[in-house]
Amino acid sequence: MMKKSSGPAFRAAQIDLAKCLACHGRAVISGVFHELACVQCNASGWVAVETGDPLPLEVLVTQLSIRLQAADHQIEQLKRSALLGGPATQYDENNRRGPGATNFTGD
Ligand SMILES: [Zn+2]
Repeated sequence: MMKKSSGPAFRAAQIDLAKCLACHGRAVISGVFHELACVQCNASGWVAVETGDPLPLEVLVTQLSIRLQAADHQIEQLKRSALLGGPATQYDENNRRGPGATNFTGD
C-alpha cells in the first residue's frame, strides 16, 4: 500500500509581512467618490515581504490572527508590568511606611 500524502501541510508559521505600498497599509484606496478595497493586498493592508504579493485569504486570516495574538499578549504584559511595578505601587508603600514612622512620639 502506498503511503498517502494528505496534501500540503497546514502551515501556521509566521510569514513576514510588509505594509502594502498601494494603500499604505490602510486596506482601502481612496477612489473618486468613495473608498475601494485595495486589490494589491486583498484588502488587508499587508503583503508578503519576500514577494510583495497579497497572501491568499486562507493564509492571510491565520497570519493576521498570529499578529493579533502577539499584540494582545504584548498589551497584557504591559498592563501587568504597569500594575506590578508602576508608580501607584510605590506610592502605596511609601504612604504606609510614612505615618507610622513620623507619628510615633513615645510619651
Ligand atoms: Zn493595499
